[in-house]
Amino acid sequence: MELNILTLVYLVASVTFILGLKMLSNPAAARKGNLIAAAGMTLAILATIFLYEDAAGSKLGNYTWIFAGLSIGGVIGTMAARKVKMTAMPEMVSLFNGMGGACAALISIVEFNHMTHQTGGLSDAVDPVTLLIILLGLIIGTVSFTGSMIAWGKLNGRVKDFSFPGQHLLNNLFILITFALAGYMVFALPEGLHIYFYIILCLSVFYGVFFVLPIGGADMPVVISLLNSFTGVAAACGGFLYDNKVMLTGGILVGAAGTLLTILMCKAMNRSLLNVLIGSFGGGSKATAGAKEAGGHYKEISLSDAAMVMSYANKVMIVPGYGLAVAQAQHVCHELEKTLEARGVEVKYAIHPVAGRMPGHMNVLLAESDVSYEKLLEMEQANEEFKTTDVVLILGANDVVNPAAKSDPASPIFGMPILEVEEAKTVIVNKRSMKPGYAGIENQLFFQPKTSMLFGDAKKALQDLLAEIKNI
Ligand code: NDP
Repeated sequence: MELNILTLVYLVASVTFILGLKMLSNPAAARKGNLIAAAGMTLAILATIFLYEDAAGSKLGNYTWIFAGLSIGGVIGTMAARKVKMTAMPEMVSLFNGMGGACAALISIVEFNHMTHQTGGLSDAVDPVTLLIILLGLIIGTVSFTGSMIAWGKLNGRVKDFSFPGQHLLNNLFILITFALAGYMVFALPEGLHIYFYIILCLSVFYGVFFVLPIGGADMPVVISLLNSFTGVAAACGGFLYDNKVMLTGGILVGAAGTLLTILMCKAMNRSLLNVLIGSFGGGSKATAGAKEAGGHYKEISLSDAAMVMSYANKVMIVPGYGLAVAQAQHVCHELEKTLEARGVEVKYAIHPVAGRMPGHMNVLLAESDVSYEKLLEMEQANEEFKTTDVVLILGANDVVNPAAKSDPASPIFGMPILEVEEAKTVIVNKRSMKPGYAGIENQLFFQPKTSMLFGDAKKALQDLLAEIKNI
């Protein structure tokens, strides 16, 4: 009877995951979707703790350990989520994802020892299918854990890009040997399984580290998304192992969603996954050095002139970027929008799919300040509308409006679809200096005749601009 209730709870939980994921695709429903899926997961965890029975009919027990772990993890997770800044979100996702990978790897280690203990150390008594699943969970979970930790360190600046000649070859060798050893263990079931198992663990640790170390800083969100899909697959292996349906569904959903997100991000930058993995884009000193060589004359605009131009425009398009998130200027940006609209100006936002440091970064940021979703235009739609726009106000965005993506085949971002802001009549760019964006490359847009620079921190500049507009 309890088993049936447990199966039913798992079914309900799986439905909440799918529902939650579906709701995440719409900004208006995303928060609710997240809560629904979290409620489903809580239900599944509690049901497993209290209702699960093994073949002999005994319950899990160990309640002190389980609830001590849950409480410590719950407190740390809640505090970290409350404290994290929007700009540090990718790091946090990476850290949490790494924990998922570590859990999957630990499950494999525990279950391997359990299995070999049960068979009394006789290798040929081991079930090869179970061994295969254990090894897959171990390899994928460990790579996800170590890779995510390096990604976390790179995003917060603790770990620098590192590569050496032949690194990709060495990485391929690592992974090849790992899978060859795993295959040998499963098919030949040799004596001394433990030794092979721990060699595979070590190789997976090395592979995770060396796989992520050379990847450029700007590509970290793509890597995190890929590692996220790895964690999902590793968790699904745990689901197979324990014949736990909810773990299996959850793992497969994370694996599939992570893979799709990785593909979508690569598409948004018009790059292949292979190029992302071996491209060292945005992290190297090469690109930054290149930025210093280019240049030209740029003109500045005063606050009062910018206020005037915008107040008398018919249509203003705001392009938010990473700098807006850094400055936490989303609320004052929304206020500017309302003030301009009160003066009869039509205001919209042009959102590039990889603006900021993670997909949907700008949508989440603007939603936080109650900007209406209808005002957020996707790239294709915005590019249509720039032709009829009087003023484009760029707030801390750089790479996503860089025309070199269309005109300079030598540029690292060549081929990346961009917001074609130069189609508008006037472009005002707010940033603090002439420094390049994350990809480390010069932006010729700043030197075009129709572009004017409005220097300063986005929040301060917008506050001053707002005051000027209110005075007109
Ligand atoms: P960029 O990093 O290109 O530019 C941000 C700009 O903001 C900088 O030039 C900086 O100039 C300015 N800035 C920083 N702080 C402030 C501040 N307080 N006030 C005003 N301006 C500020 O950001 P984009 O959003 O244009 O582009 C995102 C980049 O990330 C792209 O290269 C993209 O390919 C990459 N990327 C994004 C992914 C994603 O999933 N979102 C995935 C992979 C890559 P200054 O220092 O002069 O102020």
